[in-house]
Amino acid sequence: VPYHSAEKYLTQLLRAGLKVAICEQTEDPKKAKGLVRREVTEIITPGTITVDSALPTDRENLIVSFHSNGSGTAGITALEFSTGRVTTFEGSPEVVFDMIESLAPQELLLSDATNEATMKRLEQLGAELSKIEDWRFDHDYSEGKIKEYYKIHSLEAFELGERPSAAAALGSLLSYIEEMKFASPLHLSPPRYAEQAEYVYLDAATLRNLEILRPAIGEQKRHSLAGLLDHCQTAMGHRCLGRWLAAPLREIDSIERRLQSVGRLVVDDELRDALFKTLGNIADLERLAGKLGYRKATPRDLIQLKLSLQRLPEIKSFLLNNTSELLESSAAEIPDLSATAARIEAALVDEPPLLATGGGLIRAGYSDKLDALKASIQGAVDFISGLQEKLRRETGIPSLKVGYNQVHGYYIEVTRPHLANVPASFVRKQTLVNAERFITDELKVKEELILAAEDKINALEETLFYELRDQVAGEIEAINRAGRVIGEIDTLFSFAVAARRYGYTRPRMSTGATLEIIEGRHPVIEQLLPRGEFVGNDTLLDTASEQIQLLTGPNMAGKSTYLRQVGLIVIMAQAGSFVPAERAEIGVVDRVFTRVGASDRLAMGESTFLVEMNETSRILNNATPQSLILLDEVGRGTSTYDGLAIAWALCEALHNEPQLKSRTIFATHFHELTELPNLQPRIKNYQVQVKRHRDKIIFLRKVKPGGCDDSFGIEVAKLAGIPQGLTKRAAEILKELETGSFDPIKSRTRSHYVNPNQLALFEQKPSEVEERLRQLRVEELTPLEALNELSELQKLVLQSREDGGSE
Ligand code: ADP
Ligand code: MG
Repeated sequence: VPYHSAEKYLTQLLRAGLKVAICEQTEDPKKAKGLVRREVTEIITPGTITVDSALPTDRENLIVSFHSNGSGTAGITALEFSTGRVTTFEGSPEVVFDMIESLAPQELLLSDATNEATMKRLEQLGAELSKIEDWRFDHDYSEGKIKEYYKIHSLEAFELGERPSAAAALGSLLSYIEEMKFASPLHLSPPRYAEQAEYVYLDAATLRNLEILRPAIGEQKRHSLAGLLDHCQTAMGHRCLGRWLAAPLREIDSIERRLQSVGRLVVDDELRDALFKTLGNIADLERLAGKLGYRKATPRDLIQLKLSLQRLPEIKSFLLNNTSELLESSAAEIPDLSATAARIEAALVDEPPLLATGGGLIRAGYSDKLDALKASIQGAVDFISGLQEKLRRETGIPSLKVGYNQVHGYYIEVTRPHLANVPASFVRKQTLVNAERFITDELKVKEELILAAEDKINALEETLFYELRDQVAGEIEAINRAGRVIGEIDTLFSFAVAARRYGYTRPRMSTGATLEIIEGRHPVIEQLLPRGEFVGNDTLLDTASEQIQLLTGPNMAGKSTYLRQVGLIVIMAQAGSFVPAERAEIGVVDRVFTRVGASDRLAMGESTFLVEMNETSRILNNATPQSLILLDEVGRGTSTYDGLAIAWALCEALHNEPQLKSRTIFATHFHELTELPNLQPRIKNYQVQVKRHRDKIIFLRKVKPGGCDDSFGIEVAKLAGIPQGLTKRAAEILKELETGSFDPIKSRTRSHYVNPNQLALFEQKPSEVEERLRQLRVEELTPLEALNELSELQKLVLQSREDGGSE
């Protein structure tokens, strides 16, 4: 493909999940004898993209390397190649699979000796699988790779000494990258071990159920929590915000540090304004560091880098004094890169061309040699620029032009009517429709001089550029750090903007096991409704007395919304954001578990019910008294009795097992469960209120103590426009079911659903009994007459039954 459209094709191929080998000319075509030498210079894989347009800006593009030791331990290393961020982790295979799923990598690297069961499991995770030779996961080999790349003496430096599976994953990944990129990249950061005790680990199901990063359906990013809160001004900010929301903090001091900073930014309009203006001018420093690292930074990239680095002192000065502990320490962490900016400034012109190969990028005064070369042709250049005027004067041809083109070089152009005045010294070079082009000996000499020098100049400029780039690459680590810190500042800024815009308040954090929310709102749904229409709700949970809320209420009442809003408020708070509530006191949670709705994974051969039971068993195996559990309609995917039985037993377990005792909200349509609080003191009934008005229902959206013993399914069916005949019939069956008198055969003979469109044809004539009843004047009958009438009516009914009538 032509090189200038390569990016477009590359992007398409990568989006299709393919790997692309880049083949380039590796010698100067001018100097080549015969065919120009070509070589594969890089292999771009979905997880190691080095092409700007194929990379998402607001989220990470990850490759994860996986290793299992076959006896209960697995390890991973995740790499964001474009920025060089490296994270390692080790644990039981199940936990590791979960971790991979929530990282949602684009590419998964694994040994070709991986057993079939594991392969199957990994295939479900949705990433492109790349298999490499098993020996690359070998302990000594990978240890060697790590030591060589990071120039360390012991794996202890990265907390990997006792974690051979994580180390194997890292070593094999380094070897894979080297193979794909044909050179060791310079920008990979030292691996960080993902310490589970630091973060609330949100599994993939929870991220999906609560729509933290992406909405469950549709593409509208603002319908997710991240989309709503993201007011970041930089690419680093967008990615950082996603990371913070997907991994909220557990340590109360760190949470408070973020909240304090957001609080400061919320009240200081001037500071927010200043940050808004400056952050908007900062390019993606982390990715620029990456491009330096894999040697793809162009002259324009360096200019962007320079302009961004020049803004850093400003940001530092805004934040350094008297803001908040975290903002001040972040500001202090911003490295001083003014020397690097100055170096780029001195070397490159302000608006260099796209490529480094064509000259025109190095500033005058930067290199004596370059300046001398340029000076050596200055005479010739001046001669040519004065030539047009000079020749016009000499020949008297006013329209004579001196020009240049790539193919023919310099020329003198004279239009047809003036050809008679062309002097003899002009040599004809090219004929056009209306003009002739000439050259003179003198012009030819100057041209050769200029062209020869220009080759040298361009080559020198290119060399100077690469030297500059290598020098700047020496600062990759600092540039990356600046990028990370700016991303964090930007995220705090963004939280503050959201807090102002949507009227959030600062939550009070505690180490206790209480969760109290006054007038809490669902952040996303609140914004989708007209202003003021969302109904706030209070929540009180604590392990001592209000451990489990059993939430009943008809369909559409607002159960799921309430349940999710509690989860979102906790996650927002622990990520450091203000929350949509009048007041909130949050006893820090260690994990959030959700089991919400029917997320089917039939495509992967698992039924809804099995998925549900898997998720439930994960909760039972991992929850602690510090966890928050949100259960929405557990037991739905199976028969009513199974489902009810499982839901019942689950509530009992959560209530009675001392190692569980988690704060729980359980929304259910099984109103039989409302009996539980009579037996289990820490289970409380709540309902989302509705009002029956004639035969309609009005949703009040208020959560109140007490159970709801009616699911109003039929009323909701009416709302949805189900034909009246059907809902009437359903009401009839329901009544029978509830009184235990339901008999399918008898029931069928009583009334049946009539399609309203056919009513005109089969207009039901009132029966004789009905007609007689209608005309009866009860108040005028004597008791005896009444008895007689009753007996008459009974006869009629019995008669019509025998006739097979469908009364
Ligand atoms: P359920 O789970 O009880 O069937 P949902 O939580 O799905 O009900 O709520 C149904 C709809 O009701 C939501 O999509 C939303 O539009 C509206 N809703 C829910 N809670 C509230 C509220 N507190 N205030 C206003 N509207 C609400
Ligand atoms: Mg629901």
